[in-house]
Amino acid sequence: MTVHFPFQNSYAALPASFFARVTPTPVIAPRLIKLNRPLALRLGLDPDLLDSPEGAEILAGKLLPEGADPIAMAYAGHQFGHFVPQLGDGRAILLGEVIDTDGVRRDIQLKGSGPTPFSRRGDGRAALGPVLREYIVSEAMAALGIPTTRSLAAVITGESVMRETPLPGAVLTRVASSHIRVGTFQYFAARGDTEGVRRLADHVIARHYPQAAQADRPYHALLEGVIARQADLVARWLLVGFIHGVMNTDNTSISGETIDYGPCAFMDHYDPATVFSSIDESGRYAYANQPRIALWNLTRFAECLLPLLADEQEHAIAEAQEILAGFSEKFTTAYQAGLRRKIGLFTSRDGDEPLVQDLLDAMAQNQADFTLTFRHLNEAALDPANDTAVRQLFADPTAYDAWAARWRERTAGEPQSADERQAAMRAVNPAFIPRNHRIEAVIEAAMNRDDFAPFEELLTVLSKPYEDQPDFADYAQPPQPDQRVLQTFCGT
Ligand code: AMP
Ligand code: MG
Repeated sequence: MTVHFPFQNSYAALPASFFARVTPTPVIAPRLIKLNRPLALRLGLDPDLLDSPEGAEILAGKLLPEGADPIAMAYAGHQFGHFVPQLGDGRAILLGEVIDTDGVRRDIQLKGSGPTPFSRRGDGRAALGPVLREYIVSEAMAALGIPTTRSLAAVITGESVMRETPLPGAVLTRVASSHIRVGTFQYFAARGDTEGVRRLADHVIARHYPQAAQADRPYHALLEGVIARQADLVARWLLVGFIHGVMNTDNTSISGETIDYGPCAFMDHYDPATVFSSIDESGRYAYANQPRIALWNLTRFAECLLPLLADEQEHAIAEAQEILAGFSEKFTTAYQAGLRRKIGLFTSRDGDEPLVQDLLDAMAQNQADFTLTFRHLNEAALDPANDTAVRQLFADPTAYDAWAARWRERTAGEPQSADERQAAMRAVNPAFIPRNHRIEAVIEAAMNRDDFAPFEELLTVLSKPYEDQPDFADYAQPPQPDQRVLQTFCGT
């Protein structure tokens, strides 16, 4: 039996300037190291058939499934603020699209499957470490309830890729509601191809923002929609301590999913200036800068749409600015509502914002672990006798005591019981995040000992981030000083 992919490709039907047709480069000895069975089922794929030598060949790009129409998508982008008119899929190939069991169109893309016309000097390949990292973090984000691309499979190619040293090569099968980025719009806008921008915008409206098609001014509605989803996404990142690391415009998805897991990381102790990425020397993409950068990226998106917003440029700019001005309120509303939920408030009152801010400030001053502070606060909400676990996360525990007194005064004014409050908090404050030192340990075991058991175990734990899982309590712990990972690297 061969694996059947129920492809219904739409991007490959767009004009030829949108992509390059290209087939994946076969590899020597593909070996499937991970298949996401629940995701396969959702995509209408048979996991048993995929979990076979033939499945491994497909997921490594050695064998093309029937109905695939493989393309590398064209895009441009601002990288660290500098515009590059042509980037494109240099190490990724879109096999095609399927409609999943929820009726949502999903891209199935191989990442690391060989060179494309957009590869420039790159080899089009991916190393095992970054593939495992992306698999872990993207699936953890999904389990946390944050919009994200997903990982369907990871395959070892049996070939090495040359980086600073030879590394085992791998291919990740990435699933996304689409791979259209701000940079995709920039590609056409930079060429003065307004018809290209319009075709892309129409495709995006039909695919991701169907309600915009009903609006009086669909392209205005599209800009509003993209801004709303990005504002919500970045608020969610901040609420779990996620740092994307490379928020270039080509890594900003139009559908509002987190995309391109490179040097991303979750912070341990709370520090708004946290940067992990080795290439982010100026801290442009630091934790607390992410909302500002999202707005900067959205402004680049709005610039691409100008010719569609109004005939006169000045008029179009004024309208774009008005819509962009909505970002800040959308972000703040989502972020503040999320913070209120994290400290167990059911209502919104004057004074809530400074209350949470004072907690965050105390956490920053006392190197308190971001995730554990909120997780242990769940227990403290039930009973002040549980304060100890929170207190000891603060270098000076009395910083917490002063805050906790104010917090209890505030929550006492709400009718909900302590049980209700604790249950609500447990649903938004995870116990388990993909901590850097854990990811590094998994990669080390896989690369040096061909041992994937730690990878499997970490994935299992991260699939239920809001449950206690006492057997895996260690995974909730921050790194010991000697386990701390201070820098993360791009996959390239
Ligand atoms: P990224 O850093 O993943 O956002 O990639 C930025 C650009 O570099 C994209 O156009 C990628 O396709 C390209 N790129 C990254 N790694 C490679 C590689 N190993 N071979 C070819 N192109 C690459
Ligand atoms: Mg990218």
